[in-house]
Amino acid sequence: MSTKQFDVVVIGGGPGGYIAAIRAAQLGFNTACIDEWKNSAGGPAPGGTCTNVGCIPSKALLQSSEHFEHARLHFADHGISTGEVGMDVAKMLGRKDGVVKQNNDGILYLFKKNKVSFFHGRGSFVAAKDGGYELKAGEESITAKHVIIATGSNARALPGLAFDEELVLSNDGALRIPATPKKLGVIGSGVIGLELGSVWRRLGAEVVVLEAMPNFLPTVDEGVAKEAAKLFKKQGLAIELGVKIGEVKTSKKGVVVNYTDAKGGEQKLECDRLIVSIGRVSNTIGLNAEAVGLKLDGRGAIEVDADCKTNLPNVWAVGDVVRGPMLAHKAEEEGVAVAERIAGQHGHVDFDIIPSVIYTSPEIAQVGKTEQQLKAEGRGYKAGQFPFLANGRARALGDTSGFVKILADATTDEILGVHIIGPMASELIAEATMAMAFKASSEDIARICHAHPSLSESTKEAALAVDKRTLNF
Ligand SMILES: Cc1cc2nc3c(=O)[nH]c(=O)nc-3n(C[C@H](O)[C@H](O)[C@H](O)COP(=O)(O)OP(=O)(O)OC[C@H]3O[C@@H](n4cnc5c(N)ncnc54)[C@H](O)[C@@H]3O)c2cc1C
Repeated sequence: MSTKQFDVVVIGGGPGGYIAAIRAAQLGFNTACIDEWKNSAGGPAPGGTCTNVGCIPSKALLQSSEHFEHARLHFADHGISTGEVGMDVAKMLGRKDGVVKQNNDGILYLFKKNKVSFFHGRGSFVAAKDGGYELKAGEESITAKHVIIATGSNARALPGLAFDEELVLSNDGALRIPATPKKLGVIGSGVIGLELGSVWRRLGAEVVVLEAMPNFLPTVDEGVAKEAAKLFKKQGLAIELGVKIGEVKTSKKGVVVNYTDAKGGEQKLECDRLIVSIGRVSNTIGLNAEAVGLKLDGRGAIEVDADCKTNLPNVWAVGDVVRGPMLAHKAEEEGVAVAERIAGQHGHVDFDIIPSVIYTSPEIAQVGKTEQQLKAEGRGYKAGQFPFLANGRARALGDTSGFVKILADATTDEILGVHIIGPMASELIAEATMAMAFKASSEDIARICHAHPSLSESTKEAALAVDKRTLNF
């Protein structure tokens, strides 16, 4: 069999990889993408962590559990009577699997549409050859002039406590718990722990989150983190900060976590299941990086420069497998930029304005600098804040928690950061990101006509608040 030759081969079909492959094909390169993820029937399931066990299924379950909570607690406010509201967990999980499959199939369709050759199996380096690379794609041998590595990341386990996905769960197991646990332990109060903890709390589990850091959500603006801690506590999500995890024992009865609390007291958490969400580790397993001398950094991520170039000629790496925030849209932006650089264009990612969202209720979204970062940098800034409590649309929605906060340069008024906690923060942050991309001032947003009644009026009002001239508060 003759060896297939490609201009660009992408290893990994998550958001970094599949988007890079599509963009490379659009630019006229003969492109292949290799991805090894299998669905439950053993078939291809491109989309990576994001589609299979990350962004998409978590949002499907967050939506189902939010509907359940609304039906149980809030429908009556609208005059809707339902009788007793039940939850069929198997059906909810089935719907989630259906959403995942739609996304998997969508990517396979996009590969066809863009003439990207797809290989289902493991991709690995064999050798550098003739200025390019010889690779294995599943059982096949192929060659590439350029290689883009997008092999993602895996959940980090606690030392000595492997994931069994029955009692000790990574994000994978946490997204398919077959029945609502009575008591659920979560180690780690980052985005994943909070989102998955929220799903099962809304369905009726008592959820206890143990966090090693002394501060709640340290990378979020302090004002927002404080508001979030207050609201989550009110919802019944127990979060203990500053703990030190000791021995964790599993038995038929469940899991016992021994830990030391912030005051140094010995404590014990007994739960039915335990989610461990203490971060993710870049994944280079199976790449055979040694065969070509691909350099990793001290954390096991592939070492790249600002342009995603590795130490090897014509080998690039994007997404979770390299430095930077582990976010799907960051991976996608890098994928596009690399394909364009290969084509001799000037692909660019602005790492200073990558939005990030926590899809709890209320949602938390931010872009740019936090107030504590600006203070640490000694940069002069003005802050404007507007509460959803004073927004007509939020009142009509029945969701008035949280606020929009805008931070602008004290002298130039350029927007330096926007922080939102409240309804649809994930959508509202787009305006702020666009404003920052165009180097807008808070005055620019203040002078733009926003539809009424809309949540986005809170962004305009927060911009007015920077200049102490809010109209509705
Ligand atoms: C529970 C959870 C929720 C999340 N929610 C969000 C969110 O709401 N928003 C957000 O932006 N981010 C979210 N993330 C993070 C997001 O999923 C990742 O940042 C994103 O998936 C990274 O994309 P990637 O392409 O770098 O890697 P991945 O998505 O991990 O994809 C890598 C792919 O490469 C394949 N692969 C690996 N090695 C090989 C090999 N040698 N050969 C062939 N294939 C290989 C893997 O099977 C996988 O399909 C979430 C993550 C989790 C776990």
